[in-house]
Amino acid sequence: MTVYYNGKIFADDKFHTALAVEGEIIAAAGGSELLERHPAAEKVDLEGRLVLPGFNDSHLHLFEYALEKSRLSLRAARSAAEVIAAGRMRLKKTRDIVVGVGYNDALFAGSRPLTRDDLDKISADAPVIVYRVCGHAAVCNGAALRRAGLDGATGDLVDSASGIAREQALELLKPLTEVSDAGEIKALLRDGIRDLYRHGITSVGSNDIDDENYEAVARAYRELYRGATPRVRVNLQATISSEAALSELAGLLPATDSYLRLGAVKAFADGSLGAKTAYLKENYRGENHRGILTLPEEELARVVRMAAGFRLPVLVHAIGDGAIDIALRVLSANKQALRLGSGVVHAQVTDKKQLKIFRDKKIRAFVQPAFINTDVAFLSDRVGRERAETSYAFGTLYRDTVAAFGSDAPVESANPFRGLFCAVARSDFEGRKYLNPAEALTLKEAVMAYTAGGAEATGEKHVKGKLKAGYYADFIVLDTDIFSSPPAALLDAKVVMTVVGGKIVYRNSG
Ligand SMILES: [Zn+2]
Repeated sequence: MTVYYNGKIFADDKFHTALAVEGEIIAAAGGSELLERHPAAEKVDLEGRLVLPGFNDSHLHLFEYALEKSRLSLRAARSAAEVIAAGRMRLKKTRDIVVGVGYNDALFAGSRPLTRDDLDKISADAPVIVYRVCGHAAVCNGAALRRAGLDGATGDLVDSASGIAREQALELLKPLTEVSDAGEIKALLRDGIRDLYRHGITSVGSNDIDDENYEAVARAYRELYRGATPRVRVNLQATISSEAALSELAGLLPATDSYLRLGAVKAFADGSLGAKTAYLKENYRGENHRGILTLPEEELARVVRMAAGFRLPVLVHAIGDGAIDIALRVLSANKQALRLGSGVVHAQVTDKKQLKIFRDKKIRAFVQPAFINTDVAFLSDRVGRERAETSYAFGTLYRDTVAAFGSDAPVESANPFRGLFCAVARSDFEGRKYLNPAEALTLKEAVMAYTAGGAEATGEKHVKGKLKAGYYADFIVLDTDIFSSPPAALLDAKVVMTVVGGKIVYRNSG
């Protein structure tokens, strides 16, 4: 038994000061009487700090996030020489390949573009690939071009003289950078999980598995979770389209384990607003296209039926109102999919009619409030004022149905405080531009959507996401009392301790 005392412990309608934890579970939440009741317990002084349930990031990509973090960040580079120096340092550690991300040659002196010749100075034999900050272009050295079979290529998509590869040609580089070794995947996941602890995240819905990688990734998770630590509670969201693969995957992963389970099938109905590939009901403003529907309605219906056959909910990635229409129609038509707790991931561009369907059919919404920070700059330009007014309707979705917050990392930072800020402030981080403030949540509601909301979405609301007797002892201690600070303080709030299943897994003594 451990008694955590002298805290400000968030509960539904009040704050406790102490928690008694027995093994993995909260035995009692209350006041200083818990110390008297358990004189032999180990004691941890919370020093008056705020304690919240561990965050539940309802939709991110943990493997992708860890992979991205493992790559050489070139965001700070201001010249080709700096890229070369960083690449050489990196090669000493990684031995066989260097993958860099985030260089921006527009910021280099004289805007001189980075070229193959620069990267050949890092290595003549080991492949070096660095992705531009936009993610739509990369520069390769000679070894990388040879390995990808692109040496000698000329054209818009690949120019071997300069080493640049663009758009679809980036696919050809994937075999070089792919990580498929189980040991390597495990090491990356381990690093990624440590990072989640740092952000106070104790549960995730993670979309890592697809038709190509499912065996390797599922095995890596399974092996990693056989060991004791580090573990974050994971509901895997698998993008699987064939029944045979889903059946095999279901055999590889537990269905009910509290740390690791196959939680849902994920389907993609459209693209993104930033790239203008989100599928809208009407044209993008000033253009004559509506974006891209990536999965036809009949195909989505088939995936929903397939998942229901495995007793799994379906989470449909839908950002544009056109894709959301289809997602809502298909889910509404399948009673079992509704019963299993299916939902829409992102649910960004919505109208009133659609919001009513979310409510009436109790269709879950997995939303990422931190998107407001970037999207508020261009939303009205893309979809027009009127549609923008009923979009990113997180307040309505929170009140009317099950809404679970998340980050979609690595698309956005995994830092949950950024999402909380956008959900309550409805603005970018600088507070320059606002998006429909009527859809703001109170801070308490936003915290609930980022904790209990995720637990409810995965059918775990009776064991997770609250600090009450009988719940998992998953909680975090903050350096800031966000409830008595202005919203801007959220952006600087830090986690000082993270506890998962009664174990302290992260501590920042500052
Ligand atoms: Zn995603």
